[in-house]
Amino acid sequence: MTVREALSLGSSQFPQTPEDNPRLEAGVLLAFCLGLSREKLLACPGRELSPGEERAYRALAARRARGVPSAYLTGRREFYGREFYVDPRVLIPRPDTETLVEAALEIINRPGGRGAETSVVDICTGSGCIPLTLAWEVPGLKSAAADISPAAACVFALNRRLLRRPETAFYLSDLLNGVPGRWDLITANPPYLSPAEIEEKRRREGGPWGSAAAADWEEPELALNGGEGGLKILRRVIAQSPARLNPGGWLVMEGAPGQMNFLRKAMAEEGFLGVECVPDLAGRERVIRGYYGK
Ligand code: GLN
Repeated sequence: MTVREALSLGSSQFPQTPEDNPRLEAGVLLAFCLGLSREKLLACPGRELSPGEERAYRALAARRARGVPSAYLTGRREFYGREFYVDPRVLIPRPDTETLVEAALEIINRPGGRGAETSVVDICTGSGCIPLTLAWEVPGLKSAAADISPAAACVFALNRRLLRRPETAFYLSDLLNGVPGRWDLITANPPYLSPAEIEEKRRREGGPWGSAAAADWEEPELALNGGEGGLKILRRVIAQSPARLNPGGWLVMEGAPGQMNFLRKAMAEEGFLGVECVPDLAGRERVIRGYYGK
């Protein structure tokens, strides 16, 4: 089997959804099995796979075809140009969340802003892709992370080491309850799907085996389930934040586009100022932000 044949095998078997690009994923899995970069791989379409490589690739491809996300198969996902470790203990970082990172960086780096002196805490951090990215983008930044899940805390700790950002503190905490002090910036990508949307996601991703067999590789429900309308946790974050922000401090949060009107209103009612949605590259409103006091 050649590289070219392996890639088309993957493309024909993998799920084709708006989020999944079978050809790209086949390249990711094959590059992983061969220990090559994707660029190197694409440069040698005629290369023959050794029997061991072919076995490894076929095994991964079969699991991908049954719905296991490729990030969980390789244990890796790129976010904002850096590689993070992921496994089913945490949500897989999405490109959408890079919009949140940009919205936070824009606040940190504003003229007259506090730059690296900005104190930032990311709640519901999961893999830690948000605070660790911010800590890389703004050298010396006072960043911290929090998550309610001890399992996610392990993954966060691995990424903190992999990305060499030991200064990023971690709190095992239900939202801000266990996080001490006040902050200049609170970021959050909390669970915001409704139970019906989670069911729909399961059906979409469950592959021919359906949701029962998917239980060992599904993304954690804790990271997705936002209760009725997906708004329960977002609401709690909005209610908790004012008391935990320094004067003029910002809350930056991800949500679904359909939740933005509600969130705009809820933040304004809570006393946030300058409330605005930040669109992603496709123009969808995925992030909301506002500041409190001053
Ligand atoms: N963006 C994720 C999805 O649609 C949900 C992430 C979240 O709930 N924070 O699958």
